[in-house]
Amino acid sequence: MALYWKVRLISTVIHRYTRHNNFPTGDIMTTDHIKMLCDISELNSLFEESSIDNCLQKTVDMVAEHMNADVCSIYIYDENSGDLVLKATRGLDPQSVNRITMKLGEGLVGTALKELRIIREDRGNSNPLFKFYPGTNEELYEAFLAVPIVRGRYRIGVLVIQRKRGNPFVEQDIMAMKATASQLATLLEHIKLLLSTQQVPSPEPGITDQGLYRFLKGKSASKGIALAPAVVKKDIKHDILFRRKTFEEIFTLEQFETALKNTEIQLEDMQRRVEEKLADAASLIFASHLLMLKDQGFVGAMRDMIRIGENPPSAIVAIFLKYKGLFSESPNLLIREKVQDIEDLTKRIMNNLLQQVPEEAVYRDRIIIARDLFPSELLMLSIEGIIGVILVSGGVTSHVGILARSLKVPLVFIDEPDLLGLPENIMVLLDAEQGNVYISPAEEIVARFREQEKTRTALNERQTMIKGPALTKDGSQVRVMLNINLLSDMQQVSIDDIDGVGLYRTEFPFMIRNSFPSEEEQYFIYKKLVDQMNGKPVTFRTLDIGGDKVLSYYDVPREENPFLGMRSIRFSLQHEDLFKQQIRAILRAGAGSNLKIMFPMISSLDEFLQSRAILDVCLEELRREGAEYNAEPLVGMMVEIPSVVPIIEDLADEADFFSIGTNDLIQYTIAVDRTNEKVAAMYIPHHPAILRSLEKIARAGIAAGIEVSICGDMANQERYIPFLLGIGITYLSVDAMYIPRVKKTLLEIDIKEARARAQKMLAGRTIMEIETLLDSAAEEIKLPG
Ligand code: PEP
Ligand code: MG
Repeated sequence: MALYWKVRLISTVIHRYTRHNNFPTGDIMTTDHIKMLCDISELNSLFEESSIDNCLQKTVDMVAEHMNADVCSIYIYDENSGDLVLKATRGLDPQSVNRITMKLGEGLVGTALKELRIIREDRGNSNPLFKFYPGTNEELYEAFLAVPIVRGRYRIGVLVIQRKRGNPFVEQDIMAMKATASQLATLLEHIKLLLSTQQVPSPEPGITDQGLYRFLKGKSASKGIALAPAVVKKDIKHDILFRRKTFEEIFTLEQFETALKNTEIQLEDMQRRVEEKLADAASLIFASHLLMLKDQGFVGAMRDMIRIGENPPSAIVAIFLKYKGLFSESPNLLIREKVQDIEDLTKRIMNNLLQQVPEEAVYRDRIIIARDLFPSELLMLSIEGIIGVILVSGGVTSHVGILARSLKVPLVFIDEPDLLGLPENIMVLLDAEQGNVYISPAEEIVARFREQEKTRTALNERQTMIKGPALTKDGSQVRVMLNINLLSDMQQVSIDDIDGVGLYRTEFPFMIRNSFPSEEEQYFIYKKLVDQMNGKPVTFRTLDIGGDKVLSYYDVPREENPFLGMRSIRFSLQHEDLFKQQIRAILRAGAGSNLKIMFPMISSLDEFLQSRAILDVCLEELRREGAEYNAEPLVGMMVEIPSVVPIIEDLADEADFFSIGTNDLIQYTIAVDRTNEKVAAMYIPHHPAILRSLEKIARAGIAAGIEVSICGDMANQERYIPFLLGIGITYLSVDAMYIPRVKKTLLEIDIKEARARAQKMLAGRTIMEIETLLDSAAEEIKLPG
């Protein structure tokens, strides 16, 4: 659907442009062709509800009508048999479907796919390669156009149209068919996979005879592929353990003590594993569990009940329920936030007592299906060895997706609560590259995925890092910095290949925990980062929570529009104690280092000055305490709220640097929610308002002599990098995975040319005009990818 809107928008712009400017329509697609793309993009949604045959038939009907063709056919390639099979046709004899087959390289259709080229013939049937199939009525149609359908290097099939004599296909038709074929590639790939499952007779997408799903489409939040038995994670509320008040088997006090001892050993072991995996969470994520395990009020009360004759499991439940009630009703946030910890701890003690399989053993090497997860839960599960996650509600915690990327756990969101009813250990193939889920996948599908995995690994290995400083074609230096969410992200690059950390999203260590980290805990985490950097700059962004970055332990009052609500710097200014703790931890950790601190979501000079004043108070406090700290950090701000653009010169006079958060700048400038898939196509970074805002911000920063960097996603998109350099940006901050490509892209760019191109783009009045300029720049510069 997203593409639908994009194409619709482009269509409107083309329409206007051709009316006012006599644009030579012969060079571009006609509006009817564009309408066709719109309709085809809608087929994706049809596919979710309809049968494969229906969907294929609808496709050929649509293409035939829009292309004014007498025949349209789709051939799908089966690499196992090596056959191209006619799967749908409009115009040829319907009986030919599934009957006409050819080998790769056989006939015009087989040749188009073998050689991966478009074949156009005015008189197709006189080409020596043409293969005639009697009974199809094909002899009636002379004009022939075959376009291979591929995804990456993977052959999917061929789309063919034919017309009667005297009505040949022209250049414009080829362009439209090329666009159509690429538009259809994903849909047909799914269909192809499903067809292969049907060879081992299997049902249509949706529910099978046994009431099980076969294939579901969702939205990928963290890429990767996993094949494993699935485990449905029940909400703790539904945990039968806590509803059972009586237990048939009688246990002794000794057994209870052994259960406590085993729980302690397990917790210490988990703590060690967390430390190995994520230093951010290392500072005693299980501290409160271990403390409660020794607490007389909690464990002691259970012991007392057992001593006067209560059966241990009943004592555990009784004390748990008492504490849970007390904690959840407490007006103190710090106490309320402990509820999750006591639930977790009690469950562990109980499992050990009843000799039930501990959860971590249940989750190891499994794909987890859950309604929703808090980031801290995802962290625990990843420590426990899960290899993939399916969440049936996108919900407020969708930042769990960003965390999953840092943890390298494939994650797909699917709005299908019925998945929570799947039987335990059913085999699932999670294709988080595409956002697809296959339940009990057929052998063929599994084999295909294994093959794809091999290709992907080979491609990744080829993505080599350019060593040393990042240079442009003309030898100018650009600073390529790293964006990190968790310290573990640092493991993906060598410090020698980056110019520092341009954005550390410090909210992530807050999100993966069960409670607010103290100043000491934060200091410990931040120091670990600073120590690794060999004196290269580290840019700490202060807490940017709210919106979809929620803390499991903090009860945010409900807001109608959380993205416009009490979030980010507003939250920090409202909770000055937490804000100061964080700033103090950063200043202390940054002692002797190249330290930069920036405030997120600044919307006015007042807010910046207020934040800076609090930082000054922290500096003064630390000075008086005689602490070791960084007395001269650079203090900058994120430029991501449109209200600062008109007053940017004033901010440039006050801030030590700017870091442009294009993700939010775009969202708030064009009023398009960055997390809403339905409006994704309207989220257009090259909107003239965005380009001109970026230029204005860069100009103000350069005039004031301060650094201006881009740390939003625009910095990692090859097609925008020439523009960014062209307006004077020399700092790009991107996720580790993009660094090799960004460095490669820079080598193709000449700064002088980029400046001239940027000027043209800034003069562009419509999105479409700018898009054309971006496309031609990408082609001329030969950007990688
Ligand atoms: C941005 O808004 O561009 C940015 C980098 O910050 P975040 O994605 O964390 O909001
Ligand atoms: Mg932002």
